Amino acid sequence: MRLFHEHEQVAICHDRDSGLRAIIAVHDTTLGPGLGGIRMWTYPSDDAALLDVLRLSEGMTYKNSLAGLPLGGGKTVVVGDPRTDKTPAKFVALGGFIDRLNGSYLAAEDVGTTTDDAELVATRTKHITGLPVARGGSGDPSPMTAWGVVCGIRAALAESRRGDAGLEGVHVAVQGLGHVGADVARHLLEAGARVTVADIYADRVQPLAELGAAEAQPDAVHAVECDVFSPCALGAVVNGTTLPEMRCRIIAGAANNQLADETMGDELQARGILYAPDFAINAGGVINIGEELQGPYDAERAQRSVERIGDTLAAVFERARETGVSTHTAALAMARERIDAARSASANR
Ligand code: NAD
Repeated sequence: MRLFHEHEQVAICHDRDSGLRAIIAVHDTTLGPGLGGIRMWTYPSDDAALLDVLRLSEGMTYKNSLAGLPLGGGKTVVVGDPRTDKTPAKFVALGGFIDRLNGSYLAAEDVGTTTDDAELVATRTKHITGLPVARGGSGDPSPMTAWGVVCGIRAALAESRRGDAGLEGVHVAVQGLGHVGADVARHLLEAGARVTVADIYADRVQPLAELGAAEAQPDAVHAVECDVFSPCALGAVVNGTTLPEMRCRIIAGAANNQLADETMGDELQARGILYAPDFAINAGGVINIGEELQGPYDAERAQRSVERIGDTLAAVFERARETGVSTHTAALAMARERIDAARSASANR
């Protein structure tokens, strides 16, 4: 495994009393503290958990940069099944580990964690965001992430249909119906889209089916013939096996690290599939947290900021078109340029 991806610090955390096993990675703090959520997940090996946190924290650096936030990139993974292995003591202990990083890492929720977990973390550190609104926080970031994804889908449709961003009659296949995916599917149904959904848990599919969504199998949803495939589950969904099976025109969803590797961006471009880079389209949650950090939190202002994701994506698509590179490459270049400019400015000071 390639360990060095320019991370500033990686902390491997074990708490004997609670049994917490976690890894915190701070990738880059040029633009500000490394913000990124706490993911709780079962990993096949410790190496897989380490690789995940390294990739996710690096992605956060680019996400926060492209969103224009004064924040760098970081991430935590907690090893364990969020449905069966979660205990309050683990999240209290995690708060202690986050506090030791002295604010170079700012935590939030992610897959497998909730505002309740954030409150437990907050008992030991102030470096936690996404606390409930009643406690002065901005709450669960997922609804804003979902709204940003819907704005991003519209921007991608406008790019592929020369200006028409309407959702009426558009067929979208949504993979993963958790905090973000279920909301994305609901918004799309409300806007008149035709929606197909899939999740590994039947109890997540049922409510959307009742609203009129069609169902697909989780291992086949990427191959549904549709206008937009919206990955809202886990990463690496665009890989050497799935890509030849895809029959969509656009990929636009919330999941982090959708491309299994860098070559997939070029492969998508070669196949004429318009890809909304994950770290551009799924920035609604961090933009919302950015509003919380500016304080006092105003949900309407936050929503307006999240809607700028459409403009960011339009700029990414334009850059890709004009320079002949993939949308992934264009978005990365734009994110890196902002970080490089900040580095040069501080070196010249
Ligand atoms: P979540 O845990 O609430 O939901 C994930 C859902 O995906 C679950 O319902 C799970 O059962 C399902 N799933 C897992 N594997 C699947 C598979 N193979 N096929 C179909 N469904 C599968 O997580 P979330 O908060 O909704 O986040 C979804 C994705 O969006 C993640 O990749 C996350 O990193 C990313 N993301 C989330 C936010 C946020 O604000 N929550 C922000 C940015 C990015």
